[in-house]
Amino acid sequence: MTSLIMIFGATGDLAKRKLFPSLYRLFSKNKLDKFAVIGVARRPLSNDEFQQSVKDSVLSALGNKDNLDEFVSHFYYQSHDVADSNSYVSLKKFADEIDTNYKLEGNRIFYLAMAPEFFGPIALHLKSDGLTDVTGYKRLVIEKPFGHDLASAKELNKQIRTAFSEEEVYRIDHYLGKEMVRNIEVIRFANAIFEPLWNNRYISNIQITSSETLGVEERGRYYESSGALRDMLQNHMMQMVALLAMEPPIKLTTDEIRSEKVRVFRALRTVDGEEVNQFFVRGQYGEGTIEDEQVPKYRDEPMVDKESNTETFVAGKIMIDNFRWAGVPFYIRTGKRMTTKSTKIVIQFKDIPMNLYYQTEKMLNPNLLVIHIQPEEGITLHLNAKKAGGHLDAQTVKLSFANTGIHAMNTPEGYEKLLFDCMRGDATNFTHWDEVAYSWAFVDKISEVWEKTKESFPNYQSGTMGPKETDELLEKDGYFWWPVT
Ligand code: NAD
Repeated sequence: MTSLIMIFGATGDLAKRKLFPSLYRLFSKNKLDKFAVIGVARRPLSNDEFQQSVKDSVLSALGNKDNLDEFVSHFYYQSHDVADSNSYVSLKKFADEIDTNYKLEGNRIFYLAMAPEFFGPIALHLKSDGLTDVTGYKRLVIEKPFGHDLASAKELNKQIRTAFSEEEVYRIDHYLGKEMVRNIEVIRFANAIFEPLWNNRYISNIQITSSETLGVEERGRYYESSGALRDMLQNHMMQMVALLAMEPPIKLTTDEIRSEKVRVFRALRTVDGEEVNQFFVRGQYGEGTIEDEQVPKYRDEPMVDKESNTETFVAGKIMIDNFRWAGVPFYIRTGKRMTTKSTKIVIQFKDIPMNLYYQTEKMLNPNLLVIHIQPEEGITLHLNAKKAGGHLDAQTVKLSFANTGIHAMNTPEGYEKLLFDCMRGDATNFTHWDEVAYSWAFVDKISEVWEKTKESFPNYQSGTMGPKETDELLEKDGYFWWPVT
């Protein structure tokens, strides 16, 4: 791939932990032929200092590696003030020089790894100060959050669309870089045994859990204005719902896949007003113990209001009103300071018409298909089979497949795939504006209600799976959360 990659926010956490190691991995696999990187950030740094920091970040993420000096020789640094046109003028001059020296054919990727309030202004400057006047392709990669609600997302979109067309905008949802999230589509559409059952006749409910053990750490300021609903549900959780629920695309092209996902969003049942608290549960962590360590409550975290009404947990029941899914609840839950770090999807199939294999006091477990997203990656199918040696008793057996080799959490693989997709011009695993708009419209109805009323927080202890209402959400429908551990 031939490209000049400009990273805005190159001294930040995301660049160091994810972007540089991911670029190195692409480099070491010979996937970058002609490339250069210009790191842009506020503080003054020499090229040497910047190259050293890139080296350090690769070393700490991946350990000692070959050809590191050659890799970092492609990196340049420019100190920059995002609000000042003069900064962009000198950046353009520098970028044009690098482009010529490395024969980059005028291909440019602008990666905005900065606080979201800068996304719009940077995009406007890139255009007005001529950085987008290129002979090759120009692409904008933009981090989350994409807006704070539908109105602010529309405003941001308007700003970036003055400089980039929709096809040139790559909105990152790093869940779409995860191996097993990408696998949902293959499991569904490449197996004759699942697709015929993938509907309301055979599936009783779907449960998606994404739990973290970490608290808010040093991100209190950002999190106070966000919360779990905006930080996790609007993007990552909704994306997983769309992939699980979409119709088979006609072809595996970006447009076809995205338009099927959009059709799912269009079929979401709006939950508003008094229904919000029947369909959704919010939580905020209190003190507790995680892995034998005593941890403070959210309200005692740095830069968090002592009376904060911000949710660190959200669970909900999402209904998709279309022919395939009418009547099938999609339950989701996500939060911080929960029992375990895990992202899993459980597809629960309906019970068989009658149970021949147990006395009445025992239950036959339903068939489950579990998709393990992280930290394990794989699938498990729960079936019932005869207990060895016994009479005709049935027991659950599990058929498992584990993706081997990728057990570490927070590996840069997701970003590596997404960066490579962007260089190839494949936007399938990035979110289209229509998906963003529909999911904000859905989420806004919930936040409108929650922002008006104060919840008696904290309402779940750190190290647990959330407030008790989370269990009641399923119990009302006759279900329970399948354990994720
Ligand atoms: P950060 O605070 O660590 O880094 C911000 C960067 O922006 C720094 O390089 C800083 O120098 C630069 N910057 C700030 N103000 C500037 C100015 N006025 N002019 C020029 N440069 C300026 O932030 P981060 O954690 O790297 O996050 C960046 C973006 O990525 C955010 O949108 C965040 O939501 C998103 N994100 C981060 C992570 C992560 O793991 N850190 C994960 C997902 C999404």
